[in-house]
Amino acid sequence: MRILVLSDIHANLEALDAVLDAAPAVDATWVAGDIVGYGPEPDEVVERLRERGVTAVRGNHDAAAVGGDEIDYFNEDARRAMLWTRGVISDRTRAWLTALPERVEREGFTLAHGSPRDPIWEYVTTTPVARASFDAMTTSHGVIGHTHRPAAYLNDDGVMSLMTPAEGSQLTFGARRVLLNAGSVGQPRDGIATASWMVLDTVLGTADWRRTAYDIASVQAAMRRVALPSFLRDRLAYGG
Ligand code: ZN
Repeated sequence: MRILVLSDIHANLEALDAVLDAAPAVDATWVAGDIVGYGPEPDEVVERLRERGVTAVRGNHDAAAVGGDEIDYFNEDARRAMLWTRGVISDRTRAWLTALPERVEREGFTLAHGSPRDPIWEYVTTTPVARASFDAMTTSHGVIGHTHRPAAYLNDDGVMSLMTPAEGSQLTFGARRVLLNAGSVGQPRDGIATASWMVLDTVLGTADWRRTAYDIASVQAAMRRVALPSFLRDRLAYGG
């Protein structure tokens, strides 16, 4: 089965549409949370994902958007953007986000936003945390998001390693257990401004990381029109 893996779209419709245009034909699309927050088009992004019939999980921003107290832990810019998001999303978007599970299992993978152990908040950035994630899964493999950086944690019979995929990297994981992060579609933070995404082949046991350019200036203009914080606009240009 071939799967398009997206994460941290953050209401960036320009980036999402560019990725969907560039993506190959797939059997399914998985979304590892943070669908809204930061960006200017939450309703449009949710509608696109609904049309596509994606399998998605809830991120900390999605939880905050539907009234969760996650907002209390946001920094000032994220909080301002979230208050705006709460005020503009439709009832239809709110209902769709509310129905998202924290974790789902498909095709031998656990899909979660932060980590399989703590799906809303935990950042998987080190091999010890990745090891705990493997221990918390009943599946062999996992797909996560939240860090906004592409990554692959490999567990080869208990020996852990981290791979940081460059654009166009392919990983053949074969029999090894993997925890995969596609990076962020709508707000990359690895110093590269283009949208980051991944294609997973569960039969071949491969993951391919891709990047796609999109019209950043147009998103920044949309953010300016609705007065979203300037720091959030600026960081799109440098992927920081
Ligand atoms: Zn995020």
